[in-house]
Amino acid sequence: MKSKPGRGERIAAVHRREDFPESPGPVVAFVGRSNVGKSSLLNRLLGKAAARVSQTPGKTRGIYFYETEEGHRFADLPGAGFARVSKAERERWGELADTLFRSGQVRLAVLLADCRVPDTPTDRVLRGYLESLGVPTLAVATKWDKLGERERARSRARLEAAHGAVLPVSARSGEGIEQLRREIRRRLREVEG
Ligand code: GDP
Repeated sequence: MKSKPGRGERIAAVHRREDFPESPGPVVAFVGRSNVGKSSLLNRLLGKAAARVSQTPGKTRGIYFYETEEGHRFADLPGAGFARVSKAERERWGELADTLFRSGQVRLAVLLADCRVPDTPTDRVLRGYLESLGVPTLAVATKWDKLGERERARSRARLEAAHGAVLPVSARSGEGIEQLRREIRRRLREVEG
């Protein structure tokens, strides 16, 4: 018999609508365009038990569910930003993501933006989509270690113009990671009441 997954381990991989777990419980969904740093950030947040490689555009991609040490469920959605994927892939991304977001289980979406490219068309599409469904969204700026002080101020202003409040993080240096954990906890408490 397979043992129960430990904290931080993958609990489900969903490639087709029919594969969604019956009731995965409240979910925090991580979205962003390809290469934004989502895999690196999730590895940092989840710890090495969940270490995973980046999803290559064009390969079979799905939604991966993980259980965090605190018992929350994180959903890792395939990178959006569709230049290099086929139409069929794009449609499947939309269908899978849409199924999850319309399930009512997503308590919080973490929308990742690259601090050096603060407001791409993909970011705007994702933001508009989440807003249209009324999903509470937390904007996070990735790869913060890549910027110096002056660039940080400029990037922050542009990010905030696009997203409102933004939390900067670096998966590489660990900067902002603890604040992100705290903010996710706080936002979940808020919606759980
Ligand atoms: P994903 O496609 O969104 O899952 O992105 P990855 O996590 O695979 O990262 C894409 C690229 O950005 C890789 O080359 C990573 O090494 C790099 N990267 C990711 N996070 C950081 C970070 O915090 N700082 C720096 N400097 N590079 C990062």
